[in-house]
Amino acid sequence: MSVTHLLSRRADDPSSPPPPHHRPTWAQIDLDAIAANAATLLRVATGSGLMAVVKADGYGHGAVPVARAVLRGGAAWLAVALIEEARELRAAGITAPILLLTEPPVSAIADLLDVRLTPTVYTPAFITALDAAARARGGPPTDVHLKLDTGMRRVGAPEGDWHDVLTLLSGAAGLRMSGLWSHFACADVPGHPSIDRQSRAFRAGVAAARDYGLTPDLLHLCNSPAALTRPQDHYDLIRCGIALYGLDPGDGLFGALPLRPALRWVSRVSLVKRVAAGEAVSYGHRWAPPTDTTIGTVPAGYADGVTRRLGGLGQVVVGGRRRPMVG
Ligand SMILES: *Cc1c(COP(=O)(O)O)cnc(C)c1O
Repeated sequence: MSVTHLLSRRADDPSSPPPPHHRPTWAQIDLDAIAANAATLLRVATGSGLMAVVKADGYGHGAVPVARAVLRGGAAWLAVALIEEARELRAAGITAPILLLTEPPVSAIADLLDVRLTPTVYTPAFITALDAAARARGGPPTDVHLKLDTGMRRVGAPEGDWHDVLTLLSGAAGLRMSGLWSHFACADVPGHPSIDRQSRAFRAGVAAARDYGLTPDLLHLCNSPAALTRPQDHYDLIRCGIALYGLDPGDGLFGALPLRPALRWVSRVSLVKRVAAGEAVSYGHRWAPPTDTTIGTVPAGYADGVTRRLGGLGQVVVGGRRRPMVG
């Protein structure tokens, strides 16, 4: 264990919460596991590099320490969803290339260029505005990655727009299309028919780009589940998030791979009391013990992500044994 943090605070001793610990509930983040997971994924991706997805505060594990860990584990790139997330990494002194996964509003372009990240582009309006801003700044062209929508139907250029965006990019003096990518919708269900369809559509997109004289250095298509199951789609980078944190993105996709969970959520039991048979417990009095029992209170709640829906469903491990969350 390398880091413990409660929200974003850190302490050096992972066996106890960071000070002040008036409320003994904390997350233990094993950064060595994250670094080792990056190295394991790189062994799977023979010939490809690793783009580590550290959006959403490193999937809640702490973006800056996670970024340092994955870079130590061999990642070549980082990826984030927001300019703000990239700014946090740059402010911490991280100089690795960072891909912004979605187009921000046009009003954010000045910030985007300041933070030195590589934007993803897919709409004619954004490409035109970014090209103008980049040319106005002078200097070498700004690297961009074009995202093609091959079937996710969320963001990315739909096939009907490929002609327009490729035409714009091939004539944009302020931009250099250094990457081309897409994203699977159902890679967590190996054999889903959309996977082959998207894979074929991506190959068609790469060929279309070539027809416009665009030969990007970096092609990337695979998220974690595809990285584990679709070696034929690995291209230049695999773009992994969840597997880095040691969570299986599907049903048994890790197979024999030694990917290690990186997060443990720990709390002390703050109060223990006896409750007699039939005495209802907690909000709504929806649960009562069938026999006399002992109830322990764990000082965790909404702020930690414990929803009321876990009542009757969740479990905690106390003294090595699973106990139900009741009430
Ligand atoms: C979040 C995200 C990923 C990472 O997906 P995982 O399944 O967590 O590996 C990859 N690509 C894009 C575009 C994403 O938004």
